[in-house]
Amino acid sequence: MTDLAPPASPSALRTLMTSERWLEVARIVVVGLIVLLYSQRVIPLPVLLAAVLLGLYPLVKVGVLDLIHERKVGTELFITVATIIAMIGGEYVAGAVLLSIILIAEFIADLNTDRARASIQALIGAAPQTALVRRAGAERSIPISKVNPGETVIVRAGERIPVDGTVLAGTAAVNQAPITGESVPVEKRAGDEVFAGTVVDLGALDVRTDKLGNDTLFARIINLVENAEASQAPVQKLADRVAAWLIPLVFVFLLVVYLVTRDLRLIITLLIFTSPAELGLATPLVIIAAIARAARAGILLKGGLVLEQLAKVDVLAFDKTGTLTYGRPSVTGVRHFLPEGSDNRLLALTASVERRSSHPLAAGILKRAQELKLTLEEPEDFEVIAGRGVRARVGGQRVLVGNSAFLQEEGVALPQTAILPGTSTVLLAVDGVALGAVDLMDQVRPDLRDTIERLKASGIKRVVMLTGDNETTAQLAARDMGIDEIHADLLPEDKLRVILDLQRAGHQVAMVGDGINDAPALAQANVGIAMGAAGTQAALEAADVALMTDDLSKIVEARVLAARAYRTIQENLFVGVGVVHVLGITAALLRYIGPIQAAVLHLGPDILVFLNSVKLLRVKLTREKS
Ligand code: ADP
Ligand code: MG
Repeated sequence: MTDLAPPASPSALRTLMTSERWLEVARIVVVGLIVLLYSQRVIPLPVLLAAVLLGLYPLVKVGVLDLIHERKVGTELFITVATIIAMIGGEYVAGAVLLSIILIAEFIADLNTDRARASIQALIGAAPQTALVRRAGAERSIPISKVNPGETVIVRAGERIPVDGTVLAGTAAVNQAPITGESVPVEKRAGDEVFAGTVVDLGALDVRTDKLGNDTLFARIINLVENAEASQAPVQKLADRVAAWLIPLVFVFLLVVYLVTRDLRLIITLLIFTSPAELGLATPLVIIAAIARAARAGILLKGGLVLEQLAKVDVLAFDKTGTLTYGRPSVTGVRHFLPEGSDNRLLALTASVERRSSHPLAAGILKRAQELKLTLEEPEDFEVIAGRGVRARVGGQRVLVGNSAFLQEEGVALPQTAILPGTSTVLLAVDGVALGAVDLMDQVRPDLRDTIERLKASGIKRVVMLTGDNETTAQLAARDMGIDEIHADLLPEDKLRVILDLQRAGHQVAMVGDGINDAPALAQANVGIAMGAAGTQAALEAADVALMTDDLSKIVEARVLAARAYRTIQENLFVGVGVVHVLGITAALLRYIGPIQAAVLHLGPDILVFLNSVKLLRVKLTREKS
């Protein structure tokens, strides 16, 4: 895909160097210089001690604050203790050099985390801050904050669209990658929807402004990604818990070592290796990188917790309509249960009720009615019965439109042949009498089989289909697709129950839905995945994972990325805990290394962990061509 956003530029680095950062640099330089001068015996000890205090100040502050507010013993406290012990023990140069190195390491780590964060922004890019608006016949470039909804914005080739809106005039090929992750340009013409942050590749558009600034889809996505970063993964909490356990043990261990050896240098060295620094760095960076990478592919992951759970999922439940199928059923036939009446009359009445419904079946019926240019009436007292159908009054008559369960519950007698097997039948009853049926069929997505295969290769053990549709239609759709289980005739709350049952059986369940009527099931699942979320705001907001397009392979990509991220976290913990702590402590105990070497060596794994984490930003997802 084309990289729309420039990589972090030198100016980005400059914005990272705040005045606080410069102060930090100054502090490091001063401490370093004084240590050097002291070691050359140019300046007396009290000056060195003053410099050490100056260097320790930020560490003590953070360390004590952490201890008070989070009851957490962090690296800062370790280093403080190590330095103080060094000073008391007369290891002035060792202590001061150690302190300088740690200050440098912390500075670099901080800067890098901020840089990773800045690169998220750079990757996703930014919506333009000005718009070319047509006012009173003239075109003027004005700041976004001054644009009003309803105003016409002009966008030319090569420019980013500044608002969410509707095309009034012009045609253009628009690259929607910043939102959907798909860089294949989409044709836009009058009446089409366009999104802020997307780029006009070719052509020019007049766009009526619908949404601005923070209300745009783009702004909401960025907001979600930024919030996602802040949420913690359970492994991270585990890391914190382990650290909390380890620390008292470490102190006892150090005390014992000291009592046995009476060697202060050894204790200082050990303190460096027992500090829990990598534990803290191991996960957040991975999460930031994975979320950024996913966002670039049009996959919104709502935080580290989601990432970890998605990696652990072993059962995937699909909603049928709109997920396994396109969700655009079309009418295949109209049937009458009574001798009188015309097809068009039956369809018109059904469509008149369905026109206020947002269900895919309703859309199919309306489309057919429009094709036939039928005149529709306005329904009154319109009511949606989830998973069943709709009810309304049309021209004084009580009309029911929905499935057989719904009509039967309402006391409507149905003929034996009411349901046409293999179709989604929508039944019509007027004043308690079944008049007829509209049969619809939906198309199964062609890449379904391939997607299920790849999901199973990624460790999903069971694929389950959940649908409110009837059993025969469900089976027809699922045939030869690799689906292991079908649950048909479900109400939204039944879908929830199926998920609960799977979870009680010890499974980690992800549920994929279109978010329209699967909200309870999506919420109950360990991971709720909404497809085509660019279209429905509710789904975007409610799901744990929102796929911006309707593309099934995004599910696989999300899963692959989550698995990679989870593995990276484990690698980081292994390097951090395993290598640094075990090897470092051993080397120190064997007196292979002293405090200064320890401080230098400590930097190695920090860098490894960092590099390993940012690697995720560059992961290639299977379907993408670069
Ligand atoms: P799913 O998304 O799994 O198909 P839904 O809960 O959306 O399930 O719908 C279940 C069933 O309820 C549909 O198959 C249909 O028979 C009936 N139904 C729901 N809403 C409508 C509607 N607006 N018009 C007709 N039938 C409906
Ligand atoms: Mg549905």
